[in-house]
Amino acid sequence: MRTVTLTAIAALTLSTAGPASAQGTPKTLVAVFAHGDDEVPVAPILARYARDGVQVYMIIATDGAQGGSNTSIPRGPELARVRSEEVRCSTEALGIHPPILLGFPDGALGNYAADPELLYRLTPRLSEELQRLHPDALITWGPDGATGHPDHRLVSSIVTQLVRAGAPGVPDRLFYASIPVEGFRPMNPARGAPPLLIPQAKYFTVRVPFAAADFDAARRAMTCHRTQYSEDVVQRVAEAMRQAWNGMLPLAPWFSTSAGTDLFSSPR
Ligand SMILES: [Zn+2]
Repeated sequence: MRTVTLTAIAALTLSTAGPASAQGTPKTLVAVFAHGDDEVPVAPILARYARDGVQVYMIIATDGAQGGSNTSIPRGPELARVRSEEVRCSTEALGIHPPILLGFPDGALGNYAADPELLYRLTPRLSEELQRLHPDALITWGPDGATGHPDHRLVSSIVTQLVRAGAPGVPDRLFYASIPVEGFRPMNPARGAPPLLIPQAKYFTVRVPFAAADFDAARRAMTCHRTQYSEDVVQRVAEAMRQAWNGMLPLAPWFSTSAGTDLFSSPR
């Protein structure tokens, strides 16, 4: 079994300035995801930073109307309403600000044929929210979308686009989240992680420590998503994640400080 172990890299915080509570000016952390429940793989550190006095926000791009493997509620507006309550419950459990729900159509962000303008509407909406929140650090999925879901991939792509374009209020400090390989099978026993999905451990050069209380908050947050996870799944996933993380949540920074002059030799 492959574990997310790292070489001897010092544990870093998401902010170069250290814990926000020690600095006087509160830092702001924003996690941007496609669906309410996407926060599960970073939930302990959202709780940890909120506990440290960081202003922690979560932006959810879609309305969640199409998801729900653990509910009899039919897909549509009623499911979207229930899922918005679930994500609100999750943010309360984590001790972070209420979710910012953008309400774009679930499962359809990449449906260019049906709505060729959709991404051109989502991009400025995300930009507006980030300009308003002015984060010091950002978290989203990597280009794999963690599970490969097109909504995840496109949200990652737009957030990265805004960083690269220098959108107002958007920091360089963007971190990609992933699901540990150990988390896939307990989530869906019939299927493990698809091939070529999990980033190599060497890219997770930032490891954020969290306390047992943060993990407990994350577990409670996952329990909020009743339309997504049975209590049994929550238990199995939480245990798998706890073991994989071992108190340190790995993230892959998007940015690089390495400079170079040649494509085929390592920067010095
Ligand atoms: Zn999702």
